Amino acid sequence: MSAAVFADDAVDPAVSCSHCDAVCCRLTVVVMPEDPVPRHLTEQDPRGLEVMAHDEDGWCVAVDQSRMCCSIYELRPGICRKFAMGSAYCRDERATYSRDTAGGIPLKLC
Ligand code: SF4
Ligand code: SF4
Repeated sequence: MSAAVFADDAVDPAVSCSHCDAVCCRLTVVVMPEDPVPRHLTEQDPRGLEVMAHDEDGWCVAVDQSRMCCSIYELRPGICRKFAMGSAYCRDERATYSRDTAGGIPLKLC
């Protein structure tokens, strides 16, 4: 059976954060001044932008690896709030991650 094809602005209801390596938490997340993020979790990137810091494996340092979820969910940046599960961006990142890794590290958002 072939995979369903979705328009760029459509959401694939079959995609779930519960079955994902938290791929979006490997992306660069720019933190805005109004974001309530604890500042010890951020750093400056080479362009001088404030971004979420990443750990040595490439994930955002706010990922709680014991509970497998965002440890600052209520305080997460606006850009994280806008990242829609199953959206085209989500699907693209998951596809790229699948291609580039041999299974990856099992990490899931709750
Ligand atoms: S939003 Fe998409 S990429 Fe991010 S954890 Fe959920 S399914 Fe994975
Ligand atoms: S702040 Fe939370 S939701 Fe945003 S990238 Fe980090 S772990 Fe993921």
